[in-house]
Amino acid sequence: MAKFIFPKANPVEMKDSYDFVVIGSGAAGMTAAIQAQELGLDVAIFEKLAVLGGNSNRASSGMNGVETFVQLQNGIVDSQESFYEDTLKGGGGTNDTELLHYFVTHTESAIDWLYNHNINLTDITSTGGMSQKRAHRPGDKSAVGGYLVKGLQKQLAYKQIPLFAGTKVLELIKSGDQVTGLKINNDQIGEKTVNAKAVLIAAGGFAQNREMLAEYAPKLLDLKTTNHPGATGDGMKLATAVGGTLVDMNKIQIHPTAQQDTDHVYLIGEGVRGEGAILVNRAGQRFVNEMTTRDKATAAINDLHEDGATLILDQGIRDAFKAIDFYYAMGLVMKGATLAELADKANLDAKNLEETVAKWNEFQAAGEDTEFGRTTAMDRGITTGPFYAIHIKPAIHYTMGGIKINKLTEVLTEAGDAISGLYAAGEVTGGLHGNNRIGGNSIAETVVFGRQAGKQAAKYVLDL
Ligand code: ADP
Repeated sequence: MAKFIFPKANPVEMKDSYDFVVIGSGAAGMTAAIQAQELGLDVAIFEKLAVLGGNSNRASSGMNGVETFVQLQNGIVDSQESFYEDTLKGGGGTNDTELLHYFVTHTESAIDWLYNHNINLTDITSTGGMSQKRAHRPGDKSAVGGYLVKGLQKQLAYKQIPLFAGTKVLELIKSGDQVTGLKINNDQIGEKTVNAKAVLIAAGGFAQNREMLAEYAPKLLDLKTTNHPGATGDGMKLATAVGGTLVDMNKIQIHPTAQQDTDHVYLIGEGVRGEGAILVNRAGQRFVNEMTTRDKATAAINDLHEDGATLILDQGIRDAFKAIDFYYAMGLVMKGATLAELADKANLDAKNLEETVAKWNEFQAAGEDTEFGRTTAMDRGITTGPFYAIHIKPAIHYTMGGIKINKLTEVLTEAGDAISGLYAAGEVTGGLHGNNRIGGNSIAETVVFGRQAGKQAAKYVLDL
């Protein structure tokens, strides 16, 4: 008999019926499951892979939130209006404003909700395109994703919410206008029909689905992706098969800084720049405001035509962003006692690099970047050896498009009607981010809309 390790449930215990079934074990799905169970629903989570946590597990920089107690503790007086404007600007003005409004007005309560569930995002950093420090992360400055996923898993175990891994949802079942269940295939018990009064699709994006990329963004097919293997767009297919509609499917985010010199593609979190790193070209010179939005940073790197670019940082920045220790252990980081030694190892022009860093340190000290107009992430210069370099190239990172929902997370038909009993949240949905997602907004989306899905499912099932 297979052994089931926390927080996975034994599939022989799978019931024929639940109040609420959640598809996907990422942050959106787990948050929704916990919220719904707390409101009185009998809940189960189905995850197709053996590995839990989806892309959420890989999120690095933080979870954006405004007007939070953490911002105030750090002396940051922010506003929902400013968050709304920055996100709309970052998304090229094409964001779904109903979703965006709900989003910016619920991050504060989301940070509190996590805190009340022993998930303490009590440190804060910057991401590109945000005019304030909004990216909440663990107090030890480690990556947000792994910490959040583990924290939510502990809540599942504590609340005895079953999570069935190796359980792929094959199709949704509709009776009349209502979704009433689903068909699954479990690695151990095989195919089974499970009844559900409400279903949440939280199955993530489609960056790993070559056919869908070919259909929606054929120009990107040459690029690698930072995504986990389960990001295959199943959720979009499940929704459209029962009348749901999709939006923004051709809007795909290319992350500017992915390390791809080994067999694996590693996302180098935006927090590395958020804590002070600069980007240089082969000549050892800066070429962009490193804290611009991801689409603009990617375009600037591509315009170099130099097989990517190089991040430059020092020990102080390494200490302020714990994931760099992991990148270092994976062999992705070059090190030099001096900038000249580093330039030699990273194949950069040494004299230029020294000049570039000296000039950057002056800008940082003066609080003004007269060359590229960087205004955030200027708390520390590049001054304390040893110095480090990471070679990066853009990679497919996030699919902005997906299932069309309203602010209640109800799945909508093309005519704009809600499909009874069917909800969607997280990367599987489209519209919130417009044509370019801001770093830190995807984890925030999973918690804000995951909670909303849990609440709305409970309201629907229990007639609250
Ligand atoms: P989000 O950030 O929106 O929560 P994630 O990528 O973190 O999304 O998680 C989505 C999860 O859904 C992944 O673990 C993925 O393997 C899972 N998943 C995708 N398709 C299916 C499916 N057909 N059945 C069950 N789980 C699925």
